[in-house]
Amino acid sequence: MARLEIRSLHKYFDGTEVIKGVDLTVEDREFCVFLGPSGCGKSTLLRLIAGLEDADEGSLVLDGQDITEWPAVKRNLAMVFQSYALYPHMTVRENMSFALKLAKADPAVIASKVAHAAKTLALEPLLERKPAQLSGGQRQRVAIGRAIVREPRIFLFDEPLSNLDAALRGQMRLEIARLHQELAATMIYVTHDQVEAMTLADKVVVFNEGRIEQIGSPLELYRRPVNRFVASFLGVPR
Ligand code: ADP
Ligand code: MG
Repeated sequence: MARLEIRSLHKYFDGTEVIKGVDLTVEDREFCVFLGPSGCGKSTLLRLIAGLEDADEGSLVLDGQDITEWPAVKRNLAMVFQSYALYPHMTVRENMSFALKLAKADPAVIASKVAHAAKTLALEPLLERKPAQLSGGQRQRVAIGRAIVREPRIFLFDEPLSNLDAALRGQMRLEIARLHQELAATMIYVTHDQVEAMTLADKVVVFNEGRIEQIGSPLELYRRPVNRFVASFLGVPR
């Protein structure tokens, strides 16, 4: 189970409010997309969920447990970044093993989890390579593999495909959709790309300037945008 309730969340940077009271529930196994223009607070909200930033007001409740004060490691949520954030001096295998090694997992268990994730992501032929010897798409697959081996309660993706060219983006989008099915995991996915949001999401949360404008399925948003901002951002008539 991984059901996340976000309650009246606020965040300030240097006296400026960037998250202005967010209330939202992400259901177990849901693919929830945070969609909005650059600078509207999507990454900040994701970092608050991950425990990489502290909220100034409000709370986060995961499966009925208040995790607002929990440090990132205890939350066991895995973040996948646009910049991949791989360790350049480590091989693919070492990159994928690292978090489990730190947690002092059994070496045989680590090997088997890494092997399984490598198979799922077609990374088996690349396990002994370093990140510099990989294409952008392969690097992003390693970053996703690194998240998978941790068996996180929720996957958090921050614009993971933005650095890839259009063709590869389409392919990786399908791969992420397949992973969501296979892993039956809760996923929160941040993007400013309407096509990504509409093709991947069970639920889209449209953000603007630190607030939620609308929550709905892709179809609901297309059919009934609640205001001019949502309509124009999605490019649908209203
Ligand atoms: P998005 O991911 O939607 O592009 P961000 O969450 O990165 O938006 O940023 C939201 C706002 O908060 C922006 O105005 C940004 O400049 C500001 N911001 C983000 N992180 C910091 C920080 N660490 N310190 C100060 N301001 C920040
Ligand atoms: Mg961002």
